Amino acid sequence: MAYDEAMATYDPVLGLEVHVELNTASKMFCGCSTEFGAEPNTQTCEVCLGLPGSLPVVNATAIESAIRIGLALNCSIAEWCRFARKNYFYPDQPKNYQISQYDEPIAHDGFAEVEVDGKTYRIEIERAHMEEDTGKSLHVGGATGRIHGADYSLLDYNRSGVPLIEIVTKPIEGAGAKAPEVARAYVAMLRDLLRALGVSDVRMEQGSLRCDANVSLRPSPDAPLGTRTETKNVNSLRSVERAVRYEITRQAALLSDGGRVKQETRHWQEGSGTTSPGRSKEQAEEYRYFPDPDLVPVAPSRAWVEELRGTLPEPPALRLKRMSAEWGYSDLELRDVVNAGALNVIEATVAAGASPQSARKWWLTELARRANELGLELEETGVTPAQVAEIQALVEAGTINDKLARQVFDGVIAGEGTPAEVVESRGLAVVSDEGALGAAVDAAIEANPGVADKVRSGKVQAAGALIGAVMKQMQGKAEPNRVRELILERLG
Ligand code: ADP
Ligand code: MG
Ligand code: ZN
Repeated sequence: MAYDEAMATYDPVLGLEVHVELNTASKMFCGCSTEFGAEPNTQTCEVCLGLPGSLPVVNATAIESAIRIGLALNCSIAEWCRFARKNYFYPDQPKNYQISQYDEPIAHDGFAEVEVDGKTYRIEIERAHMEEDTGKSLHVGGATGRIHGADYSLLDYNRSGVPLIEIVTKPIEGAGAKAPEVARAYVAMLRDLLRALGVSDVRMEQGSLRCDANVSLRPSPDAPLGTRTETKNVNSLRSVERAVRYEITRQAALLSDGGRVKQETRHWQEGSGTTSPGRSKEQAEEYRYFPDPDLVPVAPSRAWVEELRGTLPEPPALRLKRMSAEWGYSDLELRDVVNAGALNVIEATVAAGASPQSARKWWLTELARRANELGLELEETGVTPAQVAEIQALVEAGTINDKLARQVFDGVIAGEGTPAEVVESRGLAVVSDEGALGAAVDAAIEANPGVADKVRSGKVQAAGALIGAVMKQMQGKAEPNRVRELILERLG
């Protein structure tokens, strides 16, 4: 079913569960390192391996991060809360229970705002709670990397016990046809906020920020909520938007055929752009939650909470207002920047010395195009804000022109060195030698006598053809304005 057709018949409701791995040096309940990418099972101890008799001790920095996240999302911070055991068996979790929080989350009842196409959407936050990450299973031998069809499985407990915060929204209503974009904007906003808080690496591709997207449809906005599916582990911003869009059309097709949506978890398939069924959640799962008797309650003093409130970064909405004033962008320009997720990179580029307009131009044209083609975030194209500022400085100094700058981007991305080194090694500097330029202008005039006559007789626009001929002969390495000046000079 086409998306527009689905939207004509149904109203979507979203629920987003985001897991954030905190960037504390040690794990949630033991002193093991949380460093990403170490040899499997080298960062474990009796606590995070769940050996009998071991006792967890809570990581104070993780609590501090949890409170700061809660405050940044306008949540109330619990005066007193506990950890709970969530009981289930899975090999990546050797205790047979995960330490989490259940009905006593550290932060609850907050909200956040996101903007899509100039409209503000308020997202109600149900809770943000603390828990520990599980280990990682690697299923070997199957085609899909899933357990089905695998010959054997390997387990790496380095991630077991890494602190996680799960942030859960209330059902998000009122997004209508913009639901996929709102979902993406929300996760992007969280990513930026968490980064500004400095509490997580927020690397979606490394799994330090993971999103589960719940989607349901109903016939109209005043109908009761429909049955939801939960699409698991959607690992990029782009996938969040695609997964929600796909799931809306899938459910709409099913419903309009007279079918019923099954409450289940589904898996996002990046390659095909579809979701496939996973665990059925028809019955509420029985995790036998109960307070963990090994851990003391967490009762943050109000004084501490207020002290932490004082460490919060500037709220994103205020930051946006301040930037649009400082940068002098029009509303439309600012909206494009926000939609492209380019605020941070532009800020860093301006800080590195580029003008706000030139920073906007490079990130929203040249680099956005590359990021799109490669399915990457702007931060991941291989060019840093400092390098963009350096390339712009080379343009302003007249060393290269805009067109040559694109080749400099190519070189920097290909790992050929700094912008200046790429200009040097690729021989990209514009020819400022007036002699060589003059010769090329003379040659172009001689080769195009008809055009030259037109210019002489006052048709100045015709000079474009001559400029083109000179630029071609100079292999782009000339400043078009200077070429134009020389042509008009010569033709009186
Ligand atoms: P689970 O344990 O099944 O993951 P949670 O309560 O942790 O359940 O999260 C469910 C998410 O789905 C929440 O964000 C919630 O607001 C949202 N949600 C609940 N009901 C619906 C619905 N009918 N349609 C869409 N989202 C829903
Ligand atoms: Mg959940
Ligand atoms: Zn450990």
